Amino acid sequence: GGPLDRLRFENGLPTMARRIVHAVNGVSFTIQRGEVLGLVGESGCGKSTVAKTIARIYRPTGGAIRIDGEDISQHDYRRMLPVRRKLQMIFQDPFASLNPRQRVRNIIMEPMLQHAEPGDKTVEKRALELLDRVGLRPEHGDRYPHQFSGGQRQRIGIARALSVNPQLVIADEPVSALDVSIQAQILNLMMDLRDEFGLSYLFITHDLSVVRHISDRIGVMYLGFMVETAPRDALFDAPQHPYTRALLSAAPAIDPDPDAEEEIELTGEVPNAFDLPSGCCFRTRCPFAFERCAQERPVLKEAASGHQVACHLLDEDSR
Ligand code: SF4
Ligand code: MG
Repeated sequence: GGPLDRLRFENGLPTMARRIVHAVNGVSFTIQRGEVLGLVGESGCGKSTVAKTIARIYRPTGGAIRIDGEDISQHDYRRMLPVRRKLQMIFQDPFASLNPRQRVRNIIMEPMLQHAEPGDKTVEKRALELLDRVGLRPEHGDRYPHQFSGGQRQRIGIARALSVNPQLVIADEPVSALDVSIQAQILNLMMDLRDEFGLSYLFITHDLSVVRHISDRIGVMYLGFMVETAPRDALFDAPQHPYTRALLSAAPAIDPDPDAEEEIELTGEVPNAFDLPSGCCFRTRCPFAFERCAQERPVLKEAASGHQVACHLLDEDSR
């Protein structure tokens, strides 16, 4: 296939083994080549479901996932094989995702072997080059995952993901299990590799400082819905959705602004994701909720160029 022009994801409602794992609705976004889209929200908001649905670990019941225009949402295993090359995942816990009984060189070679001709001599050479590229040494290829630190294991996971030259890397909380000093090293490595290989990332995290560091654009999720999406600076400088504003005001400010608006404090329980309130899913905790919020579910609308918000206040302001 050609280069990834864009990935488009619309309205997936994932199921696994005929059971709804976590409803995700009204989630629609596009990732351009070379772009980092950060997906942020509290745990249980459906971020990981979106990641696993795009990677087609889950099969969505509806919607579309387009890669270079090809809708992969209902592809079977055989049709997914060539697509797997374009889409790779990096996980939160690299130890759980690295086979403990395999040497590191074999772990890195494994995705390549699924696509290579039998006896292809370049596979091992490339595995050793990748080890070097992610900051490890060739002799590390002979060792086993338990002989490495958490940060080194994530480097191995990154080398494995890059081995098939993917266009999109889906990273689900890739640094959350690491010490803060190691987190920065891994994030910087990922940014360097993005530039070098022209990668796009879908970067999932609950950590606002991480998402701010790495993203070009950010999507904010709440209870399976995308409530706001904006360029990184617009989201941090001018958040619009009451949930985003609460999320940002709860985070310790790096540079507190004395003129900043009052903090929004969240009250109320987080509703059960399987028993959502009518209308806006945030209304049980929203200090601005009014009548319409219980009657009608807000959809994403353009608040400014490239900045979309799902909140009825948008229409109230423009009256
Ligand atoms: Fe709050 Fe209503 Fe906006 Fe939902 S639609 S965020 S309840 S004001
Ligand atoms: Mg998760």
